[in-house]
Amino acid sequence: MTLVGPSVLGAVMSAFAQAAAPGSAPALTKPSTFTLWQLPAQTRTQIMSYVIRSPGGKLIVLDGGVTGDARYLKKFVIDQGAKVEAWFITHPHSDHVQAFSAVLADPGPIEIKTIYASLPTEAWVRKYGNDREQATLRTFLESVRAANRTATELRLGQELWIDGVRVEVLGVKNPEIHPNAINNSSLVLRMSDATKSVLFLGDLGVEGGNKLLASRYRSRLRAEYVQMAHHGQNGVSEAFYRAVNPTYCLWPTPRWLWDNDKGQGKGTGPWKTLEVRAWMAKLNVQRHYVMADGLHRID
Ligand SMILES: [Zn+2]
Repeated sequence: MTLVGPSVLGAVMSAFAQAAAPGSAPALTKPSTFTLWQLPAQTRTQIMSYVIRSPGGKLIVLDGGVTGDARYLKKFVIDQGAKVEAWFITHPHSDHVQAFSAVLADPGPIEIKTIYASLPTEAWVRKYGNDREQATLRTFLESVRAANRTATELRLGQELWIDGVRVEVLGVKNPEIHPNAINNSSLVLRMSDATKSVLFLGDLGVEGGNKLLASRYRSRLRAEYVQMAHHGQNGVSEAFYRAVNPTYCLWPTPRWLWDNDKGQGKGTGPWKTLEVRAWMAKLNVQRHYVMADGLHRID
């Protein structure tokens, strides 16, 4: 018979107690899935800003918001360890790239390993975009150059693995689509592991969505979480969301846009958010994560 001394027994008991008390101490084991945060806007502007932390602590960032969001985003990334494995830019509009440019200009301790995008050329934006879009692209490209960086172009169908997170590239720029040109050239990314799947649509419009629905990647659209295209309105079609068949919706949407409120109450604006909310009500969505409600963390 082996006698277990009190100190050994105590160590066993305390290890058991730690394991049995989640959240009380730093985790002894790696989490089994990635964590996703939807960051809240720091101004009234609609933005898109997501941070993902892999089970091993590596960071993935999508977009980031306008200049007024930069300070909050920077602190958030630093608090999560400051090491960004991959930063994805869905498309070069100011509500998606300005904060990223500000981080590049003054990164502090933030290290970004790879910048991924699918960028239109300046000549194409001159032809199919407006003056503001041209200026935004120019400023964005200058910020990347000034930081001595380049953006790595993603290819349609490409697959990346980032510390156990699978990233599928289901959509890239669509130079043949001219209405709503830059939004319709948004990256579409599906991130998943054995526990959950998230589909990011950027600001994809109905034409880009239809092209994707008709493509071989339609079968990869199904996801547990979907980021609502173009801040939740005037994005992809209802049929597209039916193909995704999400359980949860991520809305990068400020309050005024969520309520279609131009200042005189719910429903007084020109936006289509209430229509899209009605579509999603038909799909048995269990929960809506709305940016207007603050920081959302999904484990
Ligand atoms: Zn946007």
